[in-house]
Amino acid sequence: MRRAIAGAFALVLATFFVISNLSARGNDETAAEGTRESVIGVIDAISPDSIHSFDLKLVSFGTRHTMSDTVSPTRGIGAARRWIESKLREFASSNPNFEVFKDEFTQPVSSRISRPTNIVNVYGILRGTEGPSGRYIVLSGHYDSIVGNFMDSTADAPGADDDGSGASLVIEAVRAFTSSGFHPAANIVFLCCAAEEQGLYGSHHFAEMARKNGWNVVADLNNDIVGGTRGGNGVLDNSEVRVFSESLREVTIGERKIPASVFGYESDSPSRELARYINEAVKMYLPGFNTDLVFRSDRFLRGGDQISFNEFGYPAVRFTEPNEDYNHQHQYVRLENGVQYGDLPQFVDPAFVAHVCRVNGTAAALLSLSPSQPQDPVMMVDKLEYGTRLNWKNPHSAGVSGWKVYFRETWQPLWTNWVFVPDTSAGDDIEAILPELSKDKYIFGIAAVGKNGVESPVVVPLPGR
Ligand SMILES: [Zn+2]
Repeated sequence: MRRAIAGAFALVLATFFVISNLSARGNDETAAEGTRESVIGVIDAISPDSIHSFDLKLVSFGTRHTMSDTVSPTRGIGAARRWIESKLREFASSNPNFEVFKDEFTQPVSSRISRPTNIVNVYGILRGTEGPSGRYIVLSGHYDSIVGNFMDSTADAPGADDDGSGASLVIEAVRAFTSSGFHPAANIVFLCCAAEEQGLYGSHHFAEMARKNGWNVVADLNNDIVGGTRGGNGVLDNSEVRVFSESLREVTIGERKIPASVFGYESDSPSRELARYINEAVKMYLPGFNTDLVFRSDRFLRGGDQISFNEFGYPAVRFTEPNEDYNHQHQYVRLENGVQYGDLPQFVDPAFVAHVCRVNGTAAALLSLSPSQPQDPVMMVDKLEYGTRLNWKNPHSAGVSGWKVYFRETWQPLWTNWVFVPDTSAGDDIEAILPELSKDKYIFGIAAVGKNGVESPVVVPLPGR
């Protein structure tokens, strides 16, 4: 064990930060120039016109109901998924690091599946330098659609917003990442999910496959209903997107599972830290656009593919437009008393979808360039003391520039302060001592800072002896 930060040094730093109450990551001045350029290259490649054309194409298949026609070249889920695959292959042809796959299975009869049904997730992987055993970042949206009667597989179900917006966002993200020549360290997966509306079957199968394959999925950024800027409540808002993240139920220490509330860690799940990371990324790269963090896994009475990733132990968030319009979701297309019902393209704002796509692109790009998180972080509780001792392992043989120890008062939603712990000589065990900061008053978290200036998401240390 080596102490990367001396007691007196920490005392000075910690006092300074407490008094000045500096905000956490206000900017990324430390990011290497080339790094920032490559992230901006992705952002700049994202086009509302392109997103609009993808969404119109998806709508043109009439219905993308999970049990709809699979043979017709122009109508139904089969034509839709073949088009998505062909589009991804088109982008793969100009980027040798991008590969296209299908995750295909037969779903047996269930409450929303009336006959055994072939279900196909279509996805591509932009290979990172870490290779197949490295980290995976997933961008997802579902391409199936539905109307009022969820078993009706023949009626028009345009699904322009739910979730043509999310699926076209994912396809556009592929175009932006592959055409801008972005080179990630971690692998980036672009996933067009099937059968979300029938019970999250596609994403469940995909997350299960990832788990079986031992994929280290560090984030799923799920996009579902990300196109509307005028809510059924009359509110017009194109300035922000909601980001849903689950709370933490329990922590595992050795053999024991302990309710997170014992430590006040309910708001520090890996998914919540991912949401905070996205929030900071947007502040750095997309000024003028906001993330509205919602500290629950989804809206009432609703669910989404991020839940499948959470079920398999992966961090995941859901992006959704700020104000929904229920007249344009899961509705038969019809005019009734002068009111237009149906999930039609005229209710999707491609400029807004492009904003959300840039949020995804920024977060995925930074995550893919960040170092791995500190490993096995522990907050020592072997005796009563006034300060805080933390230790963790460095997962990087090549080294990082250092570590940020974040802290906030327990009632704060976001990280408010940090102390930088420089990475000094060789050694994989790091210890930080913060004699002025009581572990009883604050929540602590640790992020790795790469030599390129990019940070990992924060990980919260578990109590240990
Ligand atoms: Zn949906």
